[in-house]
Amino acid sequence: MVAENYKRILNDISDVCKNTGREPGSVRLIAVSKTKPVEDLMEAYNAGARDFGENYVQELSEKIPQMPEDVRWHMIGHLQRNKVKYLIGKVFLIHSVDSLRLAEEISKESVKAGVTTNILLEVNASGEDSKWGGSLDETIELVGKAAKLPGIAIKGLMTVAPYTENAEDNRKYFRALKQLSVDIEGRFEDNISMDALSMGMTGDYRVAIEEGATYIRVGTAIFGARDYSNN
Ligand SMILES: *Cc1c(COP(=O)(O)O)cnc(C)c1O
Repeated sequence: MVAENYKRILNDISDVCKNTGREPGSVRLIAVSKTKPVEDLMEAYNAGARDFGENYVQELSEKIPQMPEDVRWHMIGHLQRNKVKYLIGKVFLIHSVDSLRLAEEISKESVKAGVTTNILLEVNASGEDSKWGGSLDETIELVGKAAKLPGIAIKGLMTVAPYTENAEDNRKYFRALKQLSVDIEGRFEDNISMDALSMGMTGDYRVAIEEGATYIRVGTAIFGARDYSNN
């Protein structure tokens, strides 16, 4: 089932790209595997998945040694500063940087380890209380400060849109994130890239691709519903 699901979503990506004049290779599918056993991840891996997203540092740390070395791990969940040290040198991209203090901690630990860590800044595009990330204005301010830190490379923006039955409801938030990335690109010339836009999940990834997503983070549509009762 997982393999079929994964391939179906790759087909969707191709279709949406064809319809919107985008290169299918410009959208990368992240298989969001939180709470799922390694056997399920391997099924996706064998279907071609190399990008996996996890939300919890401990779960991520346990899965990394059990999966092939060419997996690119994405930290997409809310990250506490005291957990940063466990991720440095292990993850391909941290999507959920939502404060200067967190960026500073990633910078400090990266310099200590002699690596550069790629990050995205998380934006609360909808303004919902339950969402992490800064407002659009706060994000511009954060870019200005975080861009000066050693050991981190800002690659773009990420947002988690509200849960909705109607994906069209989220189009405005995806559009706002894209526009913010364009604004930031125009303001800051050095040191940062706004090439990556991480937006779109099971319920709304097609709309997100139409609005410029370069990473979509899909869990349920690949692995099925999550069961949190054991966590
Ligand atoms: C769990 C999660 C996803 C995947 O959500 P689905 O609706 O299952 O596709 C994507 N992004 C983040 C930040 C998540 O926490």
